[in-house]
Amino acid sequence: MKRALFPGSFDPLTLGHYDIIKRGVQLFDEVVIAIGINADKNYMFTLEERKKFIEEAFKEEPKVKVVTYKGMTIDFCKEIDAEFILRGLRNPADFEFEKAIAHTNRMLSKIETIFLLTAASTSYISSSIVRDVIRNKGDYSVLVPDSVRVK
Ligand code: ADP
Repeated sequence: MKRALFPGSFDPLTLGHYDIIKRGVQLFDEVVIAIGINADKNYMFTLEERKKFIEEAFKEEPKVKVVTYKGMTIDFCKEIDAEFILRGLRNPADFEFEKAIAHTNRMLSKIETIFLLTAASTSYISSSIVRDVIRNKGDYSVLVPDSVRVK
């Protein structure tokens, strides 16, 4: 069974994440979306809200699971028996950042990181831009799946 972990904050899930997950499902038997818990980060959405947005967006997709985790991503991969980490690459800055993490993870484990280039149509979207639009009362609905709604 080829299982991939797609780790991130998902604060909130965007159409960019959605695209990567949909394409990941074509490559792997199971894609586990893992929301990292970092006590030092200030999130806009609670863990429960972030989890619900993703579960709702993929409720028709049995190959997608949503979990939360603490600590090192590679340790969690071993715990759930995932041999692959899935990440999206939007631009050179993502590449430089991800490269160091992927090399480190390979030094510390046998886990391979698989990168997918983002779809051109969603490559400019980031959760932080979505949060800015929300804070400024803009129309965020064109940037996120329908399941992401601000109360
Ligand atoms: P992190 O806190 O790890 O940056 P994110 O939730 O922002 O978490 O991102 C998780 C993953 O989704 C990363 O691999 C990131 O590159 C990817 N990603 C973020 N935005 C997009 C996008 N617009 N298109 C494709 N992938 C994206």
